[in-house]
Amino acid sequence: MKRSLALFAVLLLILPLCSCAAKPAEQSFFAMNTVMSVRIWHDDGAAADAAAVQALVNTLERALSVTNPGSEIAQLNGTGSGTLSDDTLYLLEKTLALSARTGSALDPTLYPIVRLWGFTTDAFRVPSEEEIAAALKSIGTEHITQSGNTVTLADGTMLDFGAVAKGYAAQKSAEFLTRSGVEAAMLSFGGNIQTVGSKPDGTDWKIGIQDPFDAASNAAVLSLSGSGAVVTSGGYQRYFEENGETYCHIMDPKTGAPVQGDLASVTIVAPNGMLADGLSTALYVMGFDDACEFWRTSDDFEAILITNAGDIYITEGLDGRIDGAQYQVITR
Ligand code: ADP
Ligand code: MG
Repeated sequence: MKRSLALFAVLLLILPLCSCAAKPAEQSFFAMNTVMSVRIWHDDGAAADAAAVQALVNTLERALSVTNPGSEIAQLNGTGSGTLSDDTLYLLEKTLALSARTGSALDPTLYPIVRLWGFTTDAFRVPSEEEIAAALKSIGTEHITQSGNTVTLADGTMLDFGAVAKGYAAQKSAEFLTRSGVEAAMLSFGGNIQTVGSKPDGTDWKIGIQDPFDAASNAAVLSLSGSGAVVTSGGYQRYFEENGETYCHIMDPKTGAPVQGDLASVTIVAPNGMLADGLSTALYVMGFDDACEFWRTSDDFEAILITNAGDIYITEGLDGRIDGAQYQVITR
């Protein structure tokens, strides 16, 4: 009796330790207008590593924010010229390359249009056609001149990295954790998921893909092994309604108006977070047919497209990795 009691006491002491070891250390914080969470498994320095991720994201936000008057980008937008830090310049160059690759579906100069529709201030409004036509004159990456770290913008042109900043932050955070020797971590930066290494129990990462028609549930669950990024963009994430019309926060550079396409959401699965973030926005702008065609001529990502009709399509590389949904496969 005494012995079993002693054993029971020992088990009581051990069990919580076991479950702790299997559970990740988790830290959440608010940055880039969203809740971010960092989960790290089996790392004695998890708290310090998570704090370093938060500091890294805060530093990027201080440089990139369009609304913080002290940021590099806000100063560049305000004065038309500025000397960018190496990190910001790198992001600009990568974004310009992605803009060219997507036929300007992704366009970092759209900020005057985003602002015109009230998305930066929450003072939403439908602008007149004249206002849109005037703003469109300063849209286009040809209005950006770069010489070393010095960037100059044409009159009226302004930059906004809203479509890639969270993915870039997640990518940089994942690289930092890998360098720190972390073997398993998952970052969730408001719709941007980034995994580091493999789950300690050897099973696949399970990533819920939000149902664009019901934010509280998943449309599907994706299995992913190893390090990678899963990023979703959709009009349902931020929008306003006026006179029965819905206007979302993703803009069509061709029209200067919110995208009115046939997609409800686009999820990109790619090795790199910034690429995945930029492409999720760009393919949402393209619409279903062009998005499929774009994937067929690419070899660095897979995608889940959910149409406004509620149909789920996946590119063939994801076949067998989706649970909880009926889907059709897009082939090459
Ligand atoms: P979220 O940031 O909500 O996850 P996205 O990654 O799709 O969504 O980025 C949307 C943001 O990018 C908008 O809030 C706006 O600041 C900016 N933006 C909107 N349309 C475009 C576009 N076509 N190209 C580049 N940036 C855009
Ligand atoms: Mg994006």
